[in-house]
Amino acid sequence: MRDISRRGFFRGSAAFGAGLALPSLAACSNAPAAAAIDSLHSLLPGRVVGRSDRDYTSFVTPWNLAWDKVRPKAAAIVRATSTDDVAATLRWAEKTGTPIVARSGGHSYAGYSTTPGVVIDVSRMSGVEFSPSTNVATLGGGARNINVSSELEKVGRTVTHGRCYQVGYAGLVLGGGIGFNVRRFGFACDQLLETTVVLASGEVVRAAPDENPDLLWAAKGGGGGNFGIHTSFVVQTYDAAPITVFDVVWKENVDEVTRWLLDFARNAPREFGAKITLRATPDPSGPARLSVGLLGQFVGTADETMALLDPAFALAEPDRSYGFLREASYWDGQKKVSDKGDPEWSAERSVFIDNSLGDDGLGVILDHMRNWPPHQGLAQWKAFVIGGAANDVRPDATAFVHRRSWLLAAVDVAWHGGDSESDIATSLRWLDEFHAALAQYGSGAYQNFLDPREKNWAQAYYGENFGRLVAVKQQYDPRNVFHNGQSIPLDVMAFVNSN
Ligand SMILES: Cc1cc2nc3c(=O)[nH]c(=O)nc-3n(C[C@H](O)[C@H](O)[C@H](O)COP(=O)(O)OP(=O)(O)OC[C@H]3O[C@@H](n4cnc5c(N)ncnc54)[C@H](O)[C@@H]3O)c2cc1C
Repeated sequence: MRDISRRGFFRGSAAFGAGLALPSLAACSNAPAAAAIDSLHSLLPGRVVGRSDRDYTSFVTPWNLAWDKVRPKAAAIVRATSTDDVAATLRWAEKTGTPIVARSGGHSYAGYSTTPGVVIDVSRMSGVEFSPSTNVATLGGGARNINVSSELEKVGRTVTHGRCYQVGYAGLVLGGGIGFNVRRFGFACDQLLETTVVLASGEVVRAAPDENPDLLWAAKGGGGGNFGIHTSFVVQTYDAAPITVFDVVWKENVDEVTRWLLDFARNAPREFGAKITLRATPDPSGPARLSVGLLGQFVGTADETMALLDPAFALAEPDRSYGFLREASYWDGQKKVSDKGDPEWSAERSVFIDNSLGDDGLGVILDHMRNWPPHQGLAQWKAFVIGGAANDVRPDATAFVHRRSWLLAAVDVAWHGGDSESDIATSLRWLDEFHAALAQYGSGAYQNFLDPREKNWAQAYYGENFGRLVAVKQQYDPRNVFHNGQSIPLDVMAFVNSN
């Protein structure tokens, strides 16, 4: 858990938004008339939260507080309780010409689950039903990681899920979905068997291999907020076998420990799932001090896990004041490695790594981390170990194209609400420089780590699958009702010419 998620007065929106194509607040002229909102209240009594309601702020505030003062605020939020509520709201939006957007967990990095019109918040649709005869689970369109965890724990099953409890499963699965199970069972989207989608017209469709297969293909990594509002997900589950969980930090011999961890990660067994994190701590007498952490799980005993990681322990004694390595039932283990995912001010940029980083790549990473221009915030280089079963799937078999990589690397800066614009701007410059240097060793970017600083996002997120996603968009959302700063466009040529 980061320690800088305290809220405060945000003064850095100008620095944060500088140079970005942000929606203007003038877009608020799209806000619906009061009479239209009154009619929405009559249509869905008790389910509409307006600007004067006590809970309004909690339902419109984005997880990434950096966007809170930048993105438009909704005229109202519909707290949908059923597919019918979603369909009725979409029909109302079509009739009244109101912009709408879906919101599930609200954890979009780019603050995209907002609009000057009406937010359709599906988070009350959080049920999880399990069928013991088929080992398939049906998740409500608003289920969060916490709902998935607590319900699957009861039946001893698992899926690929995230580790932050408040993240919405909808956003996670629609953009791919990485978790510690990825090397065993693939990305979350690989477990998606079918989904219910409400289209802009209010029509409810089933996307499955035998019905609207293109829409199912697009739902597997094509990104949230593009084609319709998903109100349920039917997913394959797996046996939740006991694991060893670990959270180990090294403060000594960091360069060599990091080198070993990366070499190991590249060829790790499929039972191994982890994130490697380099953190910088400012040192007034010179370059920042670094620590490297390994957080994750192994399907095996503690002795087997120790044996795997022994070379790293031989390189340096881990920090004894922090961390653990212990056997646990699957879901008890998840409680050790999960966190809530509280709101924060941050920016992150990612790149997929297909080949070895080599000495050069590792040098670039360590140098940038040591030269982080320190202020009160936080800087991390995070590397999610992927590959394994996720790479058994062809890049065009689902919309999730990134199927040749063993690592997803990301640079992350976070700051406090009261930090100065110049501190934030300095951090963001460092982020861009580091990302540009890192990008030489990889390609693409993770569509779930939405990056409004990425100009070439369509190629970076979707690669060779972008054209087919545009075709799906034309078929299922021909009026482009579902759109945001990086949504799938209707016309490739117009899109290329405007970028
Ligand atoms: C703290 C934190 C931890 C994270 N951990 C992980 C992780 O472990 N693994 C990983 O892969 N990713 C992770 N992510 C990234 C996460 O998967 C994305 O940010 C995801 O989009 C969040 O989904 P959400 O439903 O919470 O967000 P929202 O902001 O509600 O939605 C994200 C996008 O999807 C759209 N959307 C939401 N619900 C629906 C719906 N029902 N139908 C159609 N569109 C919809 C929204 O309009 C928006 O465009 C993390 C993010 C955060 C902030």
